[in-house]
Amino acid sequence: MNESESRKGTTSVWAGETERFPNGAVTSPIFNSVAFAYDDLDEWHAVATGKAEGHIYSRNTNPTVHVLEEKIRILESAEAATSFATGMGAISNTLFAMLGPGKRVVSLKDTYGGASRLFLDFLPAYGINVTLCDTTDHEAIEAEIAKGCDLVYLETPTNPTLKVVDLKRLSAAAHKAGAIVVVDNTFATPINQNPLLLGADLVLHSATKFLCGHSDAMGGVLCGKAELVKKVFSFREINGASLQADPAYMIARGMKTLELRIERQNASALKIARYLKAHDAVEEVFYPGLETHPGHEIAKTQMSGFGGVMSFALKGNYDTVKAFLPKLKLVHLAASLGSVSTLAGPPRTTSHVELTEEQRALLGIPESLIRYSVGIENVEDLINDLEQALASIIKEDLAAL
Ligand SMILES: *Cc1c(COP(=O)(O)O)cnc(C)c1O
Repeated sequence: MNESESRKGTTSVWAGETERFPNGAVTSPIFNSVAFAYDDLDEWHAVATGKAEGHIYSRNTNPTVHVLEEKIRILESAEAATSFATGMGAISNTLFAMLGPGKRVVSLKDTYGGASRLFLDFLPAYGINVTLCDTTDHEAIEAEIAKGCDLVYLETPTNPTLKVVDLKRLSAAAHKAGAIVVVDNTFATPINQNPLLLGADLVLHSATKFLCGHSDAMGGVLCGKAELVKKVFSFREINGASLQADPAYMIARGMKTLELRIERQNASALKIARYLKAHDAVEEVFYPGLETHPGHEIAKTQMSGFGGVMSFALKGNYDTVKAFLPKLKLVHLAASLGSVSTLAGPPRTTSHVELTEEQRALLGIPESLIRYSVGIENVEDLINDLEQALASIIKEDLAAL
């Protein structure tokens, strides 16, 4: 496979799997082996000291895990990739490996809840200075970066209101200040957005979401400049948040259909967003593919599809959400996103459960908001399902008059 020439659908299937596996297996074996044996001590030593390729111990590297890392590395046009037990493992290992006492991070108020906790609770305890900016105010973010910082941490589109930040613009600002840029690309996936090509230095993913795609395995991946990935890898080897062969296999298997799933989810989400936008019972729809979304113009320049996640606010309040959600038949009311099955839930009980109503309001999260992650089901079936649930809450409202 020619890395630079093969297109994403081909890369997802073939990357990391171009060499013949033992016994001619046509898919990656699951190497559930803690250690790898050597008959020749010189060869063992060469591998152990990094002078020859090979595997020693699965906390460090593992052949099944390597297959997954190669898929992400090539899809994101990265020099190097490494992996973690979860997405949060990728985020925390990256931040702790790159930062230290006296260092400064500039990030956004709307990052994933777990990343927010690191910024607000854990990093400051290690003497790391953190500034979280208003996510859509690019001038304010640039001004904070220009004051001097070591790392700029970005996420786009964000959770749950799908705010969009300009990766090219903010990467340029960060580099001017001598900072490295880390982007959480979980929502977009490498099919829709490639932050390294827009100027980022490191990209990370919760592989638990779209990459795996089936809600049955957890993992995290980091890729980007080789020397930076190596630094985080060295920390992870010791810190121990390594990905195991079993989930790595599941995620790599899921990734073979990544492009198919994302194309379907992009198309279905846009159709559903348009449908909801026109519905009387819906107050507002947050989806970067809608022309009315404030981040649409930036999204159009940096994304090739707008993704499978949206959120929408019902006319009403949290009681309306409580009446509406259980009426949907084709969704799991559950945390997480990016699966083959549609998942939905209110940020009030999922991603932003730890915030007060006032804090959610400050982030622009209405109490009647629902996050809706579109699966690969037939889109007409999903719309019919939404239609019957929306019709029933309108009917209940009328009955209450
Ligand atoms: C889920 C998620 C994470 C954390 O990933 P885990 O695999 O649950 O640890 C990080 N970032 C985003 C955007 C996510 O959606």
